[in-house]
Amino acid sequence: MPTTRCDVVIVGGGIVGLATARALAESGEKVVVVEAEQRIATHQTGHNSGVIHSGLYYAAGSAKAKGCREGADALYKYCEERGIRHERCGKLVLATEPNQLAALDELERRGVTNGLEGVKHLGADELSEYEPHVTGVAGLWVPQTGLVDFVEVAHAYASDVREKDGQVRTNESFVDAERADGGTVVTTTAGEVVADVLVNCGGLHADRIATRCGVDPLVRIVPFRGEYYELLPQHRGLVRNLVYPVPDPALPFLGVHITRHIDGTVSAGPNAVLALSRGHYGRFAFSPRDFFGTITYPGFWRLLRGYWRTGASEWMRSMMKRSFIAAAQRLVPELEPSHVQRAGCGLRALALQRDGTLVHDFRIVEAEGQVHVLNAPSPAATASLHIGTQIARIATRQHA
Ligand SMILES: Cc1cc2nc3c(=O)[nH]c(=O)nc-3n(C[C@H](O)[C@H](O)[C@H](O)COP(=O)(O)OP(=O)(O)OC[C@H]3O[C@@H](n4cnc5c(N)ncnc54)[C@H](O)[C@@H]3O)c2cc1C
Repeated sequence: MPTTRCDVVIVGGGIVGLATARALAESGEKVVVVEAEQRIATHQTGHNSGVIHSGLYYAAGSAKAKGCREGADALYKYCEERGIRHERCGKLVLATEPNQLAALDELERRGVTNGLEGVKHLGADELSEYEPHVTGVAGLWVPQTGLVDFVEVAHAYASDVREKDGQVRTNESFVDAERADGGTVVTTTAGEVVADVLVNCGGLHADRIATRCGVDPLVRIVPFRGEYYELLPQHRGLVRNLVYPVPDPALPFLGVHITRHIDGTVSAGPNAVLALSRGHYGRFAFSPRDFFGTITYPGFWRLLRGYWRTGASEWMRSMMKRSFIAAAQRLVPELEPSHVQRAGCGLRALALQRDGTLVHDFRIVEAEGQVHVLNAPSPAATASLHIGTQIARIATRQHA
């Protein structure tokens, strides 16, 4: 079996792994990325809303708040320099009921604390200036939000890595790793990689990869499907840009929103339904290993106890188009079930703790010669340049 030697081996060719590889390669480290799929960016990075988030939602001082603000600025600059299609179009967060006004005010406060400028509180009569087809009691206009295709961004990161003599290898899965004199020996399906440091950016499989490296991840990755409907071309004009509901702060989901994408299509979604597979996107995809991995984890039952009602209504939305579209109709009442067709879905990797709480912030854990990214949910794609730099710093420190 062929052996490669390098400074840092990165498991996972999603946007976080590639941003990390890019930052390391720029600072002169010899990097190898191993990606299990035939193409990079095929999982979360290739199945998301394509929104450059502003940093509105996140608790002040959290890694998400800082990462999103700095990452979004860096990403806009990068897209401009690299000629990647993007748009800073702004978005509307819409309160549709008076009982959401306090939460809308709290969002505005968070936005200001997180350094957003130009966020505008809108009264009911001002909403139509921004989005003519919405109705609500108030709204927030957030000018920093934008659109991009994160797959294009990931490919640009990969080409930066290759330009600096790094390797991005596809169709090569991590199998296991052990510490040896002078580094970590990683066995993959294509051979061995001997590296000073291993960085795990395995997304939906990050907990299993950590375990295989001898590290207790202290979380279980639970996959949640996020399903979308696409507006038929003749109904795309129902939104100009992006319309979001006021989210439930207890959940790491933003609620069904209506999103224009950089290619001109418009979608409604995503919902959030427990998935029975970490790697397959079919509606009834089922993996015994993944399913039993979820239901044998005590944290899952604790989560379910707290959120079974939310879970049941998300499941209803998944099964019944009318119920899904009802969520979008709260934002844009003219939208009818006949205006949309089913589109794709994404699988979110959410890190669940034994006590039943979901990890909200990014989580990066270090061990000797290893760095494990155990939670990189939204807005990690937006924040990728920032997170990649942070992970690269940790890896370089381990290397030194
Ligand atoms: C429905 C949905 C909507 C979202 N919307 C947004 C949004 O609008 N804006 C935003 O900023 N973020 C959004 N996100 C979040 C964002 O997509 C993710 O935070 C980000 O893509 C995570 O990147 P990643 O590299 O960690 O994971 P991934 O892209 O999942 O990459 C992990 C990679 O590791 C590989 N891998 C796994 N196991 C192995 C192994 N054993 N060997 C080798 N390789 C392996 C996988 O094949 C995969 O390519 C959304 C996510 C979802 C699911």
